[in-house]
Amino acid sequence: MKKTLTTCPFCATGCMYYLQSDHDKFVGIEPSTVHSIAKGHPCVKGWNAFQFIHHPDRLTTPLIRKNGVLEAAGWEEALDLVVHTLPSLQARYGHDSIMFFSSARTTNEENYLFMKLARAVFKTNNVDHCARLCHSSSVLGLAATFGSGAMSNSISCVDEADTFFVIGSNTTENHPQIGARILQSVKRGAKLIVADSRTIRLAKAATLHLRHRNGSDVALINGMMHVIIRDGLENREFIESRTQNYEQLKNTVLRYPPSIVAEITGLTPQEIIDAAHLYATSPAAMIIYSVGITQHTHGVDNVRSLANLAMLTGHVGRPGTGVNPLRGQNNVQGACDMGALPNVFSGYQKVADEAVRQKFVNEWRVADLPAHAGLPMTRALNAAERGEIKGLYIVGEDPVISDPDQGHVRNALQQLDFLVVQDIFLTATAEYADVVLPAACFAEKDGTFTSTERRIQRVRKAALPIGGARADWEIFCEIASRAGYKYMHYNAPSEIMDEIARVTPIYGGISYSRIDQIGLQWPCLDEHHPGTPILHVGRFVGGMGCFCPAEYRPPAETPDAEYPFILTTGRSYFHYHTGSMTRRTRLLEREENRSYVEINPVDAHRLGIRDRDFVMVATRRGEIVMSARMTKDITPGVLFITFHFEESPGNLLTNNALDPESHIPEYKVCAARITRKP
Ligand code: SF4
Repeated sequence: MKKTLTTCPFCATGCMYYLQSDHDKFVGIEPSTVHSIAKGHPCVKGWNAFQFIHHPDRLTTPLIRKNGVLEAAGWEEALDLVVHTLPSLQARYGHDSIMFFSSARTTNEENYLFMKLARAVFKTNNVDHCARLCHSSSVLGLAATFGSGAMSNSISCVDEADTFFVIGSNTTENHPQIGARILQSVKRGAKLIVADSRTIRLAKAATLHLRHRNGSDVALINGMMHVIIRDGLENREFIESRTQNYEQLKNTVLRYPPSIVAEITGLTPQEIIDAAHLYATSPAAMIIYSVGITQHTHGVDNVRSLANLAMLTGHVGRPGTGVNPLRGQNNVQGACDMGALPNVFSGYQKVADEAVRQKFVNEWRVADLPAHAGLPMTRALNAAERGEIKGLYIVGEDPVISDPDQGHVRNALQQLDFLVVQDIFLTATAEYADVVLPAACFAEKDGTFTSTERRIQRVRKAALPIGGARADWEIFCEIASRAGYKYMHYNAPSEIMDEIARVTPIYGGISYSRIDQIGLQWPCLDEHHPGTPILHVGRFVGGMGCFCPAEYRPPAETPDAEYPFILTTGRSYFHYHTGSMTRRTRLLEREENRSYVEINPVDAHRLGIRDRDFVMVATRRGEIVMSARMTKDITPGVLFITFHFEESPGNLLTNNALDPESHIPEYKVCAARITRKP
C-alpha cells in the first residue's frame, strides 16, 4: 500500500493526512499525528475524502455541445473551440465581454495561472472566485481597519485564549477540528460567548449565548463597545499608541446604549452588558467569525465592527486574541492570495498601481496589462443577464447551486453566447456549458493549498488522473500556448510556485523544499523568513489600526404579512459546499441525503406542521419542498435550511441583494413563508 501526505480538499482548516492507495486505487485515510492542526483526528469528511475520487460520475473526457446535446469529444477539438471562441467574442464585443470564474478548490498554482491567463493572454481583469460569496467582506473590512484581510492569529491560539467571542460561525459543523479545539479549551476553563439565533453545538457549552436577531450584528457590537467605553474598560494605552480615529468611533457607539440595542437585537440589556464585560476584561480574548457575519448587505460593516471591538480592548497582536475569519473552502484563502480577484494581482497588489503592473509586465513578458478593475462575479452574472458578458469560463464552481437566487443564475447562464466549465463532475452549471473540460482532482496533481490560518501546505499527486482528465494547470498552459502566448510553460507546479514567490512579496520565501512536511504561514518574505503565526504584533500591517465606525442598517428583506419568517442558511456537518464530492461519498450520503428546514415547535404547532412533514418554503424568488425538522434550537420566527441538495436547492430562495462595497450577497437573511404540503 502506498501512502501520500496531502491536504484535505474540504474545509479551510487545512488538516493534513495520508491518502492510502493500492495500485492507483484509493482505499483509505491515515491521519498524520504530527500535523499541528488535525493532530491525528480528521473529521468525518476528512476520513472519507478518498471515496469520491473514483466515483463512476467522474468526467473522463471533454464534452462539446452539438445540436443541443453534450457529446464526448477529443481534447484537441475542445481546446481549439475554447481558444477560437473567447477571442472572437472579444473581437466583436470588447475585451471585457468575457469573464473568468476561478476556483477555491484548485491549488494556488492553478489560481495564479488562471488569473495570468485572464490578464496576460485575454487582457481582462474580469476574474473572480467564490470568496466574493463568502469572505469578500473580510478582505475589505479587515484591510480597512488592520491593513490585512486575513485571519490575524493561528488556529493553535485557540489553546491560549481565555475567552472566545464566536459570532456567525457554526464552528463544530463547518470547521470541525477548530470547533473541537474550542470545546477542549472551554473544558479547561476558557469562557465562551456565542452570538447566534440558533442553539448551535458551541452554544450548548457557552458561558453566554446571545440569540440576537439575524442581521442585527452591528447593533450588538456597537452596544458592547458602548458599554466598554461607558464603564471605562477600553484599553487606553493600546488606543493611543496603535490606533487612529477613536473619537469618531466613540461618537458613533454613544448612540447605542443597551436599552436601544436590546430593542434592535431582541436581547436583554443585561446580556449586552455581560458580553461586553466578559470580552473586555479577559486577559486574552479571541474573536472567531465566519459567513454568518460576512454574508449580509452590511457584511463589511459587520467585519469593521468586530475589528473596532478588538482594537478598543487591545485584543490584537498577541497569542489567544485577534479577529479570525474562518474561511470556508479548502483554498479560498489561497485563491484570494493568488489574485483571482478583479482588482489585484497575487499578494493583493493593485492592478491600478503602475509600478505593480510594470513588475508583472516584465515577469510575464507582455506589452501591457489592463489597469482598470474587472467585474466581481456577482455583478458579472447580472451583466450576463443583461447581455453584456458574452463568454464565461468557470473552473471548479457550481453557481447554479452555490449562488443566491437560482432562477436569476440559470437565466444569466442561458443568456451567454459561450460557456466553458472545467470540473471533476458534470455539475448543474455544467449542464449549461458549450464545452466541458474534465479536470484532475486534488489526489491526482501536485500543488499547494493555503489554509484559513494563512498556512501554505502541499497537495501531492497520489495517482494518475482518471480517464482523460488533466490537471487544471496543464489545461491553462495548453490554452495559453494555443492562444499564441509563449511564457506559460512549466515542467512542474514547483516552478509555478517559484514564479509566484518572485512576484508576490508575502509568498517571497515559499518554495516546495521549505514546505515539504509542514507548511509556512504568510507573510513569509524571503528564503530565511520563518513565516508569521500572528499578524499585527507591535504594529498593524497597515501601520496604525484605524477605527471604522458603522451604523446599524437592517437587512434588505425583513418579515412582513406575506412572508412572516426570517430564512437563514448554512451547512451541515456531513456535507461540503455544493455537495458534488460529499454527496458522492457513501457514508456521508447515508448520514444525510436530503434537505430539511428547521422550525421551532411553537411555530410548527401554530401552522399544523409535525416533525418530518413535507413542507413548502417560499420566498419572493421561488419555492422548494423539503421535510420539516422541529427543534427548540432555532428561535421562533426563524427558519434554517442548508444549500447542499440539488433536489431542493436552498439557494433558489436566497436573496441576491448585495453589500455595496464587497458585492457579497445577503444569504443569511431573507423573508420567507412555510406551509404544510397536503
Ligand atoms: Fe478536512 Fe476540515 Fe475535516 Fe480537517 S476539519 S478533516 S480540513 S473537512
